[in-house]
Amino acid sequence: MAKTASEAAALAPEILAKYEPVIGLEVHVQLLTRTKIFCGCSTRFGAPPNSNVCPVCLGLPGTLPVMNKRALEMAVRASLALHCTVHEHSRFARKNYFYPDLPKGYQISMYEMPLATGGWLEIEHEGARKRIGITRLHLEDDAAKALHEGIAAADKTYVDYNRGGTPLAEIVSEPDIRTPAEAYAYLTTLKQLMHYTDTSDCNMEEGSLRCDANVSVRLRGAAQFGTKVEVKNLNSFRYLQKALEHEIERHIAVIEGGGTIVQETRLWNQAEGRTISMRSKEKAHDYRYFPEPDLLPLHVSAEWREAIHAAMPELPDAKRARFVAQYGVTPYDAGVLAETRARAAYFEEVVRAGAPGKSAANWMQTELLRRLNDSGKEIEASPLAPAALAELIQLVEAGQITAAVGKKVFATMFESGRSAKEIVASEGLAQISDTGAIEQAAREVIEKNPENVAKYKAGNEGVFKFFVGQVMRATRGQANPQIINDVLKRLLS
Ligand code: ADP
Ligand code: ZN
Ligand code: MG
Repeated sequence: MAKTASEAAALAPEILAKYEPVIGLEVHVQLLTRTKIFCGCSTRFGAPPNSNVCPVCLGLPGTLPVMNKRALEMAVRASLALHCTVHEHSRFARKNYFYPDLPKGYQISMYEMPLATGGWLEIEHEGARKRIGITRLHLEDDAAKALHEGIAAADKTYVDYNRGGTPLAEIVSEPDIRTPAEAYAYLTTLKQLMHYTDTSDCNMEEGSLRCDANVSVRLRGAAQFGTKVEVKNLNSFRYLQKALEHEIERHIAVIEGGGTIVQETRLWNQAEGRTISMRSKEKAHDYRYFPEPDLLPLHVSAEWREAIHAAMPELPDAKRARFVAQYGVTPYDAGVLAETRARAAYFEEVVRAGAPGKSAANWMQTELLRRLNDSGKEIEASPLAPAALAELIQLVEAGQITAAVGKKVFATMFESGRSAKEIVASEGLAQISDTGAIEQAAREVIEKNPENVAKYKAGNEGVFKFFVGQVMRATRGQANPQIINDVLKRLLS
């Protein structure tokens, strides 16, 4: 008898620590082709139901599939980004099963001869980097979408065949993942690679990335893996992490209670925060795979593969390393800046327009990315062009405005789209380097604060900051900080 979720959650940390989780992920990503994998129908998401269909993707008798070369090219690109060996010869296979969302009665997938095998991707988790093996990447056609909810008649299921025939790449990992957090990092890294290579938008809400998780536990140090369970219905990266955490504890509770884990497929129920058995291995499908007779085997020549390789964009790892070497930014900053290609391109344009790399990195992180995030905008929609940010940074670097004023100017630029120079000129924000004016302000501050002067003279160095702050404030943040320091030191000594 399996223990319940609440019993599992009560396990002591020492008990949990005795076991090592083992996780492998099977991810389906929708490729970003304009048309379907074996016909010319549009793949556009959100079209009226059953409007993007034809005899081929409806599986009508007598029709024949024709391979979409772009889908293959994208899958090759994804395979190369995952360091896989792309095989010159691969072949589609029929995976037979019946379901209303599968009008052909079989899925066209790959079995013994997948497109690519033996790759890896590198994740970063808690400062450490780790390679997760990629077993294989293969192509297949997607099923249609059955709709059970939010439909007029609650007792009916509707089918939208628009999605049927959309190209998918299935990416299977080795059982190299050891924690739910690593699984989360794996998905994030995979999604980033798919974005970088323009192969999939990996949008989980729209179903363009779907993930099944395989998980088992074993005593730490054991050579053999434990029995695995497959968890489905993971609709977000967070749910995946939660489902794995739950499932790992459930396994340990069962084993600690003297039971055994049965190989089965379970569904994550987010509302209840637990997994529920869906089908056991005994009832698992026998798909009767056989080579697809309606399609020629795929041929990816070394020449074509190399051409695709040569046209690949710089990938995140290489970009991060280059940013550190070329611009002297920290590895952390490089990671933030290279998170998306658009962000990285923006950064390099700011530098090209004349800003030093480190300053560009700082201004982007402390001001631009924060404000974009607050206003829910992507960097592509930034109200500041890279050159405009570079101009602001240069004003600060040249001492024409203080860093404090620079931040205010930035805010105005972000809201108004006006240039830094224009704002500084029209609002009279240029840095005050006139020692006389600063001294005047400093004398007034000192006069108004006799107690703090006494404290300072009694040896309390801390109040010096108070005086600097007050003079800064009196000059609306425009006074040269070095001159403020010098003047105050002189007047207070
Ligand atoms: P199946 O034949 O059930 O499909 P596979 O060997 O093809 O199993 O593996 C499917 C997925 O399960 C892969 O991602 C793999 O890494 C993972 N996996 C295999 N064995 C285990 C295990 N003992 N624990 C966790 N994950 C596993
Ligand atoms: Zn079609
Ligand atoms: Mg398998």
